[in-house]
Amino acid sequence: MIPAAGAEQYPALDFANSALALPGGQYLDLLGSPDAATRWLAEHDLAPADSGLRETCAAQLRALREQIRMLLAARVDGLPVPAGALEAVNDAMTRTPTASLLRWDPARGLHRESPHPVTRIVEHALAVLAADAADLVTGADAERLAACGSPPCNRYLLRTHARRHWCSTRCGDRARAARAYARRKGD
Ligand SMILES: [Zn+2]
Repeated sequence: MIPAAGAEQYPALDFANSALALPGGQYLDLLGSPDAATRWLAEHDLAPADSGLRETCAAQLRALREQIRMLLAARVDGLPVPAGALEAVNDAMTRTPTASLLRWDPARGLHRESPHPVTRIVEHALAVLAADAADLVTGADAERLAACGSPPCNRYLLRTHARRHWCSTRCGDRARAARAYARRKGD
């Protein structure tokens, strides 16, 4: 699956797009199981590939994803942002520090150390993704945020042209084919 335009720049955008509605009524959840969620986090440098997430971890990721999707939807449509979405993002961002802390010991001297033990990998990933989502919706790129206009696709993207509003050439081709079909039927 090729990332949507902008999703390589913003992991939160790729995260929001990890629940996919596919043509033919198919549905693909890239966080649908602990193994799938581990793979997704590892591919985004948010967890070691052998971190062995549990189902509760995958469920936490899916829950934040839903809230981030609501946040993006509200931003795209210019609607009030649901309080639950703000709360979920703020909670994920503040539950755990994301900066590597400064340490000193006689053997190593000054060094930076990740503040989260392995057991808190998911909290760290949630914090990073939530902070990235907050950056996305408040930064200069927020104006380019759009929902893919090629049904049934449910991905979000950053528009590269003013009029382009699909997430991939594949979705663009499908949208054009659907328009051509509608025109032929109209004749
Ligand atoms: Zn699309």
